[in-house]
Amino acid sequence: MAAPEISVEFFPPKNAAGEERLRESVAALAALRPAYASVTYGAGGSTQERTLATVRFLQEQGDYEAVPHLTCIGSTESGIRELLQRYRDWGIRRIVALRGDLPDGMENPGFFRHASDLVAFIRAFGGFEILASAYPDVHPQAISAKHDLDYLVAKVKAGVDTLVTQYFYNPDAYLQLRDALARRGVQVPIVVGIMPIQNYQQIVRFSAQCGAEIPRYMQLLFEAYADDPASQNALATEIVARQCALLLREGAPGLHFYTLNQAEPTLAIAQCLGI
Ligand SMILES: Cc1cc2nc3c(=O)[nH]c(=O)nc-3n(C[C@H](O)[C@H](O)[C@H](O)COP(=O)(O)OP(=O)(O)OC[C@H]3O[C@@H](n4cnc5c(N)ncnc54)[C@H](O)[C@@H]3O)c2cc1C
Repeated sequence: MAAPEISVEFFPPKNAAGEERLRESVAALAALRPAYASVTYGAGGSTQERTLATVRFLQEQGDYEAVPHLTCIGSTESGIRELLQRYRDWGIRRIVALRGDLPDGMENPGFFRHASDLVAFIRAFGGFEILASAYPDVHPQAISAKHDLDYLVAKVKAGVDTLVTQYFYNPDAYLQLRDALARRGVQVPIVVGIMPIQNYQQIVRFSAQCGAEIPRYMQLLFEAYADDPASQNALATEIVARQCALLLREGAPGLHFYTLNQAEPTLAIAQCLGI
């Protein structure tokens, strides 16, 4: 099996301690020779300056191609155009185009309603490869699984080059989505989003928000070792690495690690996979 393409995701740190942790993780994860590092962008542009600074840091650090995320809900057309122009001037080649969620207290979604609007806008702007999201466990706000699939197909047709999935712990959900997209004539690569489990309770909270399902066997195993962090860590690495291996055998084109700015859990999974 050829070595899979690896990419990693970071969030822009909020303070000096976070910056130090990011620097350490960026240095440690370079060992995996990731194809790129993406940088998240807060809803409604709330992290704009920090996202830009993190993208700049990665470009200067030199080991990674920096790939900014861009969320569009609550943004103006001119604001998005200015940001795209800035990224073009910086030599950015790819962008992760997202809708995002309206921040609390903000009611007007603004010019862009859906990620597909942003995808079409970036495509018309030109010069970027466009990555976008897909949800094997179905997006939590979807009207139905069928609507979610229909909108995903429309989003890809608006100009997506590569899909990156939300994390999931049920490989069949990915295979089902992959095959459904293939039946609809969607040919783009569908990169597997991987959430290493560093802190099980945190994953439970995230999953409740983003609609990712934690299978019962995982819940029971993690609860059984609730007082034993070493066993929980070993379990987390084993389970996630096995899912990665299965999906790679099934032909998944790459693994995108949601690192949460921590290198160790991703490195442990990569080691298990022989990467
Ligand atoms: C790879 C990845 C990276 C992410 N990075 C970030 C980040 O940096 N910052 C951040 O804030 N969030 C991020 N998120 C989370 C994401 O912003 C949320 O999941 C958000 O709720 C949806 O964004 P989207 O781009 O997936 O939206 P969309 O693709 O627009 O879909 C959102 C919902 O709208 C529905 N929909 C789509 N089109 C239509 C239509 N035409 N009419 C009616 N309904 C429609 C879909 O079925 C779905 O339920 C990321 C998610 C993923 C998977």
